[in-house]
Amino acid sequence: MRVLVTGGAGYVGSHTVRALLEAGHHVWVLDNLSRGHLEAVPRNLLTLGDIHDVPLVAELLRQHRIEAVLHFAAFALVGESVEHPDLYYRNNVQGGLALLEAMRRVRVPLLVFSSTCAVYGIPPRVPISEDSPTHPINPYGRTKLAFEWALSDLCQAGQIGYASLRYFNAAGAAADGSIGEDHDPETHLIPLVLQTALGLRPQVDIYGTDYDTPDGTCIRDYVHVDDLADAHVRALERLRVGTALVCNLGIGRGYSVREVISACQEVTGCQIPTCTVARRLGDPPRLVADATRARQLLDWQPRYRDIHTIVETAWRWHHSHPRGFRAC
Ligand code: UDP
Repeated sequence: MRVLVTGGAGYVGSHTVRALLEAGHHVWVLDNLSRGHLEAVPRNLLTLGDIHDVPLVAELLRQHRIEAVLHFAAFALVGESVEHPDLYYRNNVQGGLALLEAMRRVRVPLLVFSSTCAVYGIPPRVPISEDSPTHPINPYGRTKLAFEWALSDLCQAGQIGYASLRYFNAAGAAADGSIGEDHDPETHLIPLVLQTALGLRPQVDIYGTDYDTPDGTCIRDYVHVDDLADAHVRALERLRVGTALVCNLGIGRGYSVREVISACQEVTGCQIPTCTVARRLGDPPRLVADATRARQLLDWQPRYRDIHTIVETAWRWHHSHPRGFRAC
């Protein structure tokens, strides 16, 4: 298919661009590089621009005869969303609606959306299925859910087909270590632990050890970024007008913060200093996916099922790019 990837220079977007190319699709990327990296995506595929720019997006769609859009361009930091909700509503909701307007003008009706388990908030039951109530507890989750509602309503009106993929904790890096996770500021656990192993940070703060979990720290479902990319390709290939596919993406197994740190110690061979600090506001104790639907409807099986192998790929990236893409 001929596809446009918004936010294709970002973390999950750039890995998905590779997976799409490997699957034989024709790919173009739109990214404003506000969070993405020039080095993460083949230069000849990239158009520098913003999803808010409806004429530009419509022209790209028309010029390349695009059949479907994979939409990653968004802000994705919970803490930042609490401090600057305006940014999140502007980028994640208004920007998404502008993209849909451009698609409507040029009659591109198919979209794969990068969503999140943050739409569930604090779930009443774990593992979390897609039928779990959606009560997001921060602006990030609310803006992602708001865009999901728009997609659902447009689909019910017969105007589009979409897949909304709700990721749990994206982790890891391309197996060859050439692209990986690089956020500024970095807030995610695995990169922070590995940067500590490299001596770039003095210690890892553990946000709370008094949760109702076996070792007192929060449990998350870490899913490899290449497995996420694979699910996007599968979702794309199943899309038709009228499709409304909402799927969790996770491995269905949770690891605590302490377990992640200990896996990082084993993989790197480094002792990693830690310090217990207060809970981080808005962190649910336990988030683990029930990914049955993705398995059934997308025939999706994550290849990485163990935290050690996920961390190994992340370590390859961080070890060879201690300063991220800046050193490229
Ligand atoms: N975490 C931590 N210290 C850190 C960063 C994260 O203890 O410096 C914990 C965080 O509280 C959560 C888990 O690690 O329980 C994963 O956090 P991350 O920010 O990577 O992803 P999130 O679950 O917020 O999407």
